[in-house]
Amino acid sequence: MNLVLMGLPGAGKGTQAERIVENYDIPHISTGDMFRAAIKEGTQLGLKAKSFMDQGALVPDEVTIGIVRERLNKEDCQNGFLLDGFPRTVAQAEALEAILEELNKNINYVINIDVDQSILMDRLTGRRICKDCGATYHLVFNPPTKEGVCDKCGGELYQRADDNEETVANRLEVNVKQSQPLLSFYEDRGYLRNINGDQDINNVFDDIRNLLGGINK
Ligand SMILES: [Zn+2]
Repeated sequence: MNLVLMGLPGAGKGTQAERIVENYDIPHISTGDMFRAAIKEGTQLGLKAKSFMDQGALVPDEVTIGIVRERLNKEDCQNGFLLDGFPRTVAQAEALEAILEELNKNINYVINIDVDQSILMDRLTGRRICKDCGATYHLVFNPPTKEGVCDKCGGELYQRADDNEETVANRLEVNVKQSQPLLSFYEDRGYLRNINGDQDINNVFDDIRNLLGGINK
């Protein structure tokens, strides 16, 4: 089965990706891993990507798409794949269609782990870290016994600047803007399936399994 996984930061995409690849024995293809592998193997495209990354520049689409093509052509993708972090734009999605057509494959589903932005705000701003021992807590998922105090060492808990409301709100907004056109694109194509991500992670995966149960290979 050939899948694309989407979801905003905090939606729980990573956890579900792990479960999908484990249960369906398909490779998890994330953009970062794909770049790292191509660079390590020293492929021409990998080296090209590296030269952009070394300059702190964005890797151009043609290079990224070439690396995706090489990756999807590998043996372990014969029974399918889970793409994560690619495509990021409609242009990349169109390129992906062309690649899959070449390889005589098609996408089965684009799974979008759907969670309200207000819930994502709570999830993403809830992290607290101990000043003394570095232990991490979460106000909702893993709260300390006593507010603001580390269970392990009694140290003071603080919120990292990356986790504050304004930073998180900006990050979400950027991601919403970026993913919206892509979601519409896949909705028009009939591939998009929204999975309710505002439930226990086991139930989220049950919903995914119910969806994928209908695919034969
Ligand atoms: Zn501590």
